[in-house]
Amino acid sequence: MIKVAKFGGSSVASAEQFRKVKNIVRADRDRRYVVVSAAGKREKDDNKVTDLLLLANAHIQYHVDARPLLSQIEERFVEIADELGLKYPIAEKFEEFSSVIESLSPEYIVSRGEWFTAQLMAEYLDLPFVDAADVIIFHHDNTVDFERTAAKLKEAVQRTGGRFVLPGFYGSTVEGTIKLFKRGGGDITGAVLARCINANVYENWTDVSGFLSADPRIIDNPRAIHRITFDEMRELSYMGASVLQEEAIFPVREANIPIQIKNTNDPDAPGTVIRETAEEREVEHLITGIAGRRDFTSIHIEKAHMSNEVGVIRRTLSIFERYGVSIEHIPTGVDSFGVIVNSKDVKDSIYAIVNDIRREVEPDDITVIDKLALISVVGRNLRRRAGSSGRIFGVLGEAGVNIRMITQSSQEISIILGVNNDDFERAIRVMYDGFAAHEKV
Ligand code: ASP
Repeated sequence: MIKVAKFGGSSVASAEQFRKVKNIVRADRDRRYVVVSAAGKREKDDNKVTDLLLLANAHIQYHVDARPLLSQIEERFVEIADELGLKYPIAEKFEEFSSVIESLSPEYIVSRGEWFTAQLMAEYLDLPFVDAADVIIFHHDNTVDFERTAAKLKEAVQRTGGRFVLPGFYGSTVEGTIKLFKRGGGDITGAVLARCINANVYENWTDVSGFLSADPRIIDNPRAIHRITFDEMRELSYMGASVLQEEAIFPVREANIPIQIKNTNDPDAPGTVIRETAEEREVEHLITGIAGRRDFTSIHIEKAHMSNEVGVIRRTLSIFERYGVSIEHIPTGVDSFGVIVNSKDVKDSIYAIVNDIRREVEPDDITVIDKLALISVVGRNLRRRAGSSGRIFGVLGEAGVNIRMITQSSQEISIILGVNNDDFERAIRVMYDGFAAHEKV
């Protein structure tokens, strides 16, 4: 069995966290490959090394003295190395980096967070260090060159005898220019590695025990989700329940490798397993999770005999496209339809958009409704149960929550409800209490 274990920023934020990582890696011989983020926050108000490096880079760009910031970063690493008694000459190496920093690219500078963290971790775990610049190969458009990357990673596996520590978040082009993934991209490195070496499991170690079935700021102690499908996870993350960098799922999903989310601070908690399909025996549970966001705007357009006129929706949508506004949902009726967008995306342009629609689409009526919240009720079993939506609407009706919009995702794994911002938390509470709270996981 081959496991890739990726540890996020908070899991490697201090010497104490390094110790936990060692215990986790030592507890299972199958954990052969360790991917690390840069040291992250030790507590809520702390700084992530990546943020400090970004800031240092900005100082350099604007010719402001970056030395105090660089010393702050150095201290973080020195503290870890000293406390763990590591031999890696961290102070010296960091000074070397600082002294030439002005000649380095921003990507290179920012990538050093994971680079130094991985150097320390490799020594502490007594495993070889593999530089991501040598094995994670990017195309010039910032996408991963899987063919070259797989070949390089296989070489590294051979060279190291099949165990190593790899820094996340960066790689390089064939010419050797450092490139970065999006923020949180250490998750993507782990997924690329798992895929290229055909791992059996991709473990993602973080500071929460997996996905929760509802936001803990709204529901006290929501139940954890032990198993979830990739599609369900996409729906929940999109609506705000994010644990993993979204793009990390694609490489492993294609190769059918499950992702296991685990908590470094509570390694015995089962966490969440994300895989392509769930097992049949789980059929009894109706709702996997509930997530939502506030502040959407609906632009409602009415045009008599629209059903006989071709192109009304296309013309309307192209106006939004012109303003660079991404569309969330388009509920349609016979002679009317709505376009639902994020309120912040149309904050300055809503009047201009409405004017353009008036002129180019000539609707009979157009209404703008704002302060809408969208709630996604996600469950792979929803499609198998007749009457599920009726029951959901029932509990909302009893609680006096007015449903302003309903749509269903095309794979029927989620029902999306629009309610007033003011009803948002109450709607989630009554649905959670009505369904998720008593169901088995
Ligand atoms: N260190 C990077 C960040 O803070 C990448 C990661 O943590 O995965 O975004």
